[in-house]
Amino acid sequence: MEEEVVLEASKRHVLVLGAGMAGLAAVRELRRSFYVTVVDAKEYFEFTPGILRAYVKPDHWETLVFPYQEVLESRLKVSFVWGEVVALNYHCAKVQMVQGEEPEEEIPFHFCIITTGCNFDQLSEYGVSPWFPVIHECARAQRSAMDERYLEFRRRRILQEHQQLIELNNKRAHILVVGAGYQGVQWACELRYFFPSLTVFLTDFMPRCLGPLPEEAAQYCEEYMRSHGILTKYNIKYDRNSDGFWQRIGLPHGAAKTYVLSGAKHSNYFVDEAAQSQRGPGGGGWILVNKFMQVVTSSGERLGEGAIFAAGDCVSSSNEAPKWELPPLPKTGFPAEQQAMLACRNIKAPVLPTHRMCRAPVGDFPKRYLEGHDALVASLGRWDLCHLPGLLVGTEGFEGSVSATGKDLHVDTFPGSPVVSIAPMFE
Ligand SMILES: Cc1cc2nc3c(=O)[nH]c(=O)nc-3n(C[C@H](O)[C@H](O)[C@H](O)COP(=O)(O)OP(=O)(O)OC[C@H]3O[C@@H](n4cnc5c(N)ncnc54)[C@H](O)[C@@H]3O)c2cc1C
Repeated sequence: MEEEVVLEASKRHVLVLGAGMAGLAAVRELRRSFYVTVVDAKEYFEFTPGILRAYVKPDHWETLVFPYQEVLESRLKVSFVWGEVVALNYHCAKVQMVQGEEPEEEIPFHFCIITTGCNFDQLSEYGVSPWFPVIHECARAQRSAMDERYLEFRRRRILQEHQQLIELNNKRAHILVVGAGYQGVQWACELRYFFPSLTVFLTDFMPRCLGPLPEEAAQYCEEYMRSHGILTKYNIKYDRNSDGFWQRIGLPHGAAKTYVLSGAKHSNYFVDEAAQSQRGPGGGGWILVNKFMQVVTSSGERLGEGAIFAAGDCVSSSNEAPKWELPPLPKTGFPAEQQAMLACRNIKAPVLPTHRMCRAPVGDFPKRYLEGHDALVASLGRWDLCHLPGLLVGTEGFEGSVSATGKDLHVDTFPGSPVVSIAPMFE
């Protein structure tokens, strides 16, 4: 029998914008105490950290996705709205619906959490890349390709890209991977392992791979890549229009295909510009938050009297707001979830009777959960990896040391697999 939903007058309404890792953590935390509505521009969840393996081994993709409707409404008993958030004022969000009779809907809220993530290719206008479905109207308008807001078309896109890799492999093509952070290293190793006839070049403007990560990890990964024939070139800035660039990396005739895994680009098109950073990755546009994860303007004023929060990849990691009270935050899954938990904690806290602003103290919230990784794993092809537990942000980058490698563990790896926490940390 269907569970009867009895509306309680005392329960308030939380609107969660974006159902990625941070959004889903918020839903789990709030669903019993509030009416929760979740808005997402696509009809399915996709586990981004595993997406690299999906392109080289498409059946893996099936393990990374689920349809929102079924999980959110039937299992978690919250409301799901399939549409793109296009505007947000202090009391309601405007959503462009993907289906239904009304093209737009306005959804009022008592509290709102923005967890709409970001895009990943900072060299393209809207950050469009294979690593995240193209969902925003502005980016879709430039592409005649498949509408990836639908599960079926996302599947076809993955298969199409995979087919192209097969063809490139048959032609023994030269491939360039730009960005030797943990994502670029993983992608270079995936290509090399699954398509051994490709010649894979990896380049970065930094002097070594894994940028801010510990030296020991960089050495391990570099050694793996060299011994598997991946050609690495560092200290070179990517400039696809410069002959000099291609000469320097050893590809005077260019590459058959270039993949960019470097940086990120904001997609906070619906957020008040006063609450967006002027600087930061991809030219800024990141949502400014205070230490309660409340959205603030650059002068420190709380949006929506403090009832609007943001967490995860969409928030600023620049230090420009005078009221900025958090250090730069990494754009990875575990901190995204923890930031969402902190926002929820403040939403649940007592509020001043005359004011919607939360006043919960957060001093006891462990800073390392917001700033550090629970663990970071760089997988190297199918059978090797480099595991860095409990990384923290230090003055020179992340501090931590390698605890295990695939040689010790003998595991079948896939990119991103053990990194992200699925259960909420705080009750
Ligand atoms: C190739 C790659 C590999 C990675 N590997 C790892 C890893 O190994 N470990 C790790 O911890 N992290 C990894 N990451 C980073 C990780 O995926 C992100 O940090 C994490 O997904 C951030 O979660 P989030 O909830 O903030 O955003 P997301 O998970 O991106 O979720 C945002 C959600 O908002 C929705 N949305 C966006 N805009 C709108 C809108 N206007 N209206 C409605 N809905 C909207 C999107 O559809 C999406 O569902 C990787 C990223 C990439 C690209």
